[in-house]
Amino acid sequence: MAKFARTILGDVDPATLGVVNAHDHLIRVGAGEVYIDADHQLADVDKAIEEANYFVDASKRWADGGTVVDMCPANCGRDLDKLAEVNRAVPGLQVIAATGFHREHVYLETQSHWVSRYTVDQIAQLLIDDITVGIDRHDYSGPIVDRTEYKAGVIKVATAYGKITKFERKCMEACAIASIETGVPINTHTTYGTCGLEQAQEMIKLGVPADQIAIGHIQRNADVYYLQQILDTGAWLEIDGTYRIKYQPDSNRIMELRELGEKGYGDRILLGTDSGKRGYQKAYGAVTGVDYNASVDGPRMIAEGFDPEYVNKLLCTNGQRFFTVRKEA
Ligand SMILES: [Zn+2]
Repeated sequence: MAKFARTILGDVDPATLGVVNAHDHLIRVGAGEVYIDADHQLADVDKAIEEANYFVDASKRWADGGTVVDMCPANCGRDLDKLAEVNRAVPGLQVIAATGFHREHVYLETQSHWVSRYTVDQIAQLLIDDITVGIDRHDYSGPIVDRTEYKAGVIKVATAYGKITKFERKCMEACAIASIETGVPINTHTTYGTCGLEQAQEMIKLGVPADQIAIGHIQRNADVYYLQQILDTGAWLEIDGTYRIKYQPDSNRIMELRELGEKGYGDRILLGTDSGKRGYQKAYGAVTGVDYNASVDGPRMIAEGFDPEYVNKLLCTNGQRFFTVRKEA
């Protein structure tokens, strides 16, 4: 296959990804975020199937189905057997799984974490093996590694609020090596939209092609001048945080999408929802969920006069391009 995206059930033609939800969560079984806030626990396969069905139903308005990029990285509660069970139960769904790392805070106390003990090259090899062999069934939470057949198709890089810690810098170096080696793109977590520019600049310095980097959750920094500076490095933006009214109204995200589109950056923007808590998912009783871009935002953009071709890029084709792997299978 010349061009492909790496889903957990195999490599596919990127054009089959349909609506691409570039940052979301269907399964998370314990780990640091759940310790910090138990609402992060997403261990129920039946609920995940229900949530994914809402997403696929909404996606059918725009394409044949949809893809959830499940951005749970190493040692943060990945359970690929459960995720594959969800994928197989939902026709029209594809899932891209992540390797890489979250921000240091999520790993709680990190002096004895393996990231602090291993070399950058050893860490990079673990990420490469997740991508080329299969993700560890035990999520790199212990010394025994037992690889599933489910490979990662994206790498997560994450940083703290207003700084990049030493731990996060080491993770970033390993992620850059793994991305360059495998041709798999990097999708980041910024904390409240800070350090997005530094993430792009640092990873480009480490040799990652700018157009294989997407700076994530960046909508929180609803400052178009700042967002443009990131885009001018050649990197992409990933905009999510849908219906997170406690932080900002949705009109801010729509404004960012409109203004960046008008300024000519519309080919390098991804949409996610990051509904990574039970409180953000319909299956657990919320009024919005993983389907939000396809069911609410897409129709809203059309109603607000966006060019339908641009809406299609944001929902579908940009993600299909970004998640294309740059190496032969
Ligand atoms: Zn997330």
